[in-house]
Amino acid sequence: MPTLVMKFGGTSVANLDRIARAAKRVAVEVANGYDVIVIVSAMSGKTNELVGWVNETSPLYDAREYDAIVSSGENVTAGLMALRLQEMDIPARSWQGWQVPVKTTSAHSNARIEEIPTEKINAKFGEGMKVAVVAGFQGISPEGRITTLGRGGSDTTAVAFAAAFGAERCDIYTDVDGVYTTDPRITSKARKLDKIAFEEMLELASLGAKVLQTRSVELAMRYKVRLRVLSSFEEPSDSAGTLVCDEEEIMESNVVAGVAYSRDEAKMTLISVADRPGIAAAIFGPLSEAGVNVDMIVQNISEEGRTDMTFSCPTDQVKRAEKAMQDAKASGAINFHDLVADEGVAKVSVVGIGMRSHTGVAAKMFRVLSAEGVNIKVITTSEIKISVLIDRKYMELAVQALHDAFELEKAG
Ligand code: ADP
Ligand code: ASP
Ligand code: MG
Repeated sequence: MPTLVMKFGGTSVANLDRIARAAKRVAVEVANGYDVIVIVSAMSGKTNELVGWVNETSPLYDAREYDAIVSSGENVTAGLMALRLQEMDIPARSWQGWQVPVKTTSAHSNARIEEIPTEKINAKFGEGMKVAVVAGFQGISPEGRITTLGRGGSDTTAVAFAAAFGAERCDIYTDVDGVYTTDPRITSKARKLDKIAFEEMLELASLGAKVLQTRSVELAMRYKVRLRVLSSFEEPSDSAGTLVCDEEEIMESNVVAGVAYSRDEAKMTLISVADRPGIAAAIFGPLSEAGVNVDMIVQNISEEGRTDMTFSCPTDQVKRAEKAMQDAKASGAINFHDLVADEGVAKVSVVGIGMRSHTGVAAKMFRVLSAEGVNIKVITTSEIKISVLIDRKYMELAVQALHDAFELEKAG
């Protein structure tokens, strides 16, 4: 029988009524003749609560214990979803990550899926099970400890299962009815896209559009998974949602496809470091070992023979970054006068494949921000995106102004 993967995010399983509603959606696909693999997130807000408890108990926590704790929200929804389906006379069984087992690396709190053996679940399908409900976001390391896949990781669980089981499609049910030109919460002018290219979705996701986890898009692109984003609150129809697909499948296209933002950024500056060969390695090596995800980097001339090194990282990694730098200073590996953390910044980016062949997007972006009186602190570019770091208080204004200026409310 053909297999379908259906993933329900936090708001889609936020309470028993929503779980019942999602189960009805699953029943429709079972009636359509599919063996269904349902991937569930934790109830909305649950993972944040668990993360909060971890931080309160241990600010520089042991990531193995973090994973043991924050993975638990998904266990509850997986069991509840299986029970709900059984109540509807649909043969269903829940599976936690370790039971499948979803084999991952040991990079706790940000592990990557390495393998999903299909035998056990397929054997159950062979015995008449119609739905396997799998707890998203979690797996097991080679050492046998529970891992998690990074925030938003259930999307990745879903795509990885679709790839492993050769599913016909991977449907991501969420609280918006597709991928928009920007977060519809920031501007009502955001326009739903019927289709978006993998590469654009990859950039938007990695630049903060949390509708899909970046890694899920990477996997879908690599394993050619048909990936659809749709609302769990609206009636289903075949044309619903957004299809993430190859560039060639898309007819219309604007130069800029979308605007993304990332609110929780911090800018850190090491003031007056010795300007010598190897200094970047001496700084960014320890940061990477401490699990700090450094994003943008700028180096500025300071006094003679010295330099200021600025980098950005997620706000919740500032403490880790500070510790790594103070430790490196104490060990004599680096020397700096001061370490300044600015936790009040945000990153705003414009993304579009069209930038490969059109010039002037960066200039226009800077003009628009300047007209709004927004000061740019750091800039980075790649072939299909431009990102700027700005004061967080201007973030929404910047997104709206850029969305207007690039006329994203109109289809290209
Ligand atoms: P789930 O809990 O279902 O995984 P998420 O909250 O992780 O849902 O992702 C859905 C949210 O992503 C939407 O509510 C929306 O606010 C946000 N979002 C950000 N950028 C976009 C975008 N370009 N298109 C659609 N949604 C977006
Ligand atoms: N519950 C996890 C989170 O909130 C995983 C997910 O929802 O995708 O990050
Ligand atoms: Mg999500």
